[in-house]
Amino acid sequence: MTGIDVSQFEIRPHPSPRSESERAAILANPGFGRDFTDHMVTIRYTEGKGWHSAEVVPYGPLSLSPATAVLHYAQEIFEGMKAYHRADGRIGLFRAEENAARFQRSADRMAMPLLPEETFLASLRVLLEVDRAWVPEGEDTSLYLRPFMFASEEFLGVRPAHEFLFSVIASPAGAYFKSGPQPVSLWVSHEYTRAAPGGTGAAKCGGNYATSLRPQAEAIENGCEQVVFLDAVHRKYVDELGGMNIFFVFDADKTIVTPPLGTILAGITRDAVFTLARDAGYQVHERPYSIDEWRADARSGKLTEAFACGTAAVVTPIGAVRDVHGEFSASDGQAGPLTMQIRQTLLDIQHGKIPDPYGWTT
Ligand code: PMP
Repeated sequence: MTGIDVSQFEIRPHPSPRSESERAAILANPGFGRDFTDHMVTIRYTEGKGWHSAEVVPYGPLSLSPATAVLHYAQEIFEGMKAYHRADGRIGLFRAEENAARFQRSADRMAMPLLPEETFLASLRVLLEVDRAWVPEGEDTSLYLRPFMFASEEFLGVRPAHEFLFSVIASPAGAYFKSGPQPVSLWVSHEYTRAAPGGTGAAKCGGNYATSLRPQAEAIENGCEQVVFLDAVHRKYVDELGGMNIFFVFDADKTIVTPPLGTILAGITRDAVFTLARDAGYQVHERPYSIDEWRADARSGKLTEAFACGTAAVVTPIGAVRDVHGEFSASDGQAGPLTMQIRQTLLDIQHGKIPDPYGWTT
């Protein structure tokens, strides 16, 4: 499948973009997912015709029929990635090809057409060229990129749609958790699960996040910031958080443990952590790890650190863990040294502050 390259996008500049001072005010205090840049990418897919009509257009509302398939059957996928202002003044992306590949895997699971990887990458490039001034420069800030695709066909039959819209929007981002790299508290959901074997847990589809909202609300009701899901079969092995993968650190034998792939999202940060942990002298084990082991290892002191990771929050230490049976934490809920070392190395590579020996940045 040949892709659409940068030169094939039609650029329709915004007739009244935000003024420099309006933009500066937003960039001085970026939130998360609240403000958007002046433009967005749209590319259409029509069965029989393929991908076409690649454009950069003014950011704004889409007009949809009430019968648009996605509004009824949730045939929708997305990605989340960041563009960074680098120390050398250029704009960097982190492992964007991995996001392009995962977008294809998600599309395949959801019976959607595969967007060629080069088209995915060209759409990021062209939006960044047009909205370059929107990449914030502050410490730990970035321009969050949200590529997404949905069934845009006006049809109520239950079958894969024949028309899709792919789009990329961008939002200046500050730190994900208001508390910064402070330990995040977790609520263990025993009642709700996120993904069953054979389901869509490994796909980045909107439905996974819709079902996480009720347990996430339960976490907040119980005084925790995030929810951690257990597996849907045994109801005891740790899967992941609502939007992050999870790692356990055992200093005595220099190992880190993380749940295996299958029903969880194959995080791109997760994969980078493997490399950074190995380079820090740790062995990485992908194996099922139960909530009972976690509790016992935290109480005995065998578990020395636990952290969560993902594009939005980078690497975040885990503090208190709570469920219906009570509360526990590793290392008094303080951020551990390996957690902070991996976090800093990752941030420094992403922001081009140190050389990238892994070829992760573009
Ligand atoms: N798990 C889930 C459910 C997520 O939504 C995310 C964020 N994409 C992650 C893990 C982390 O993935 P990544 O490191 O690629 O951002």
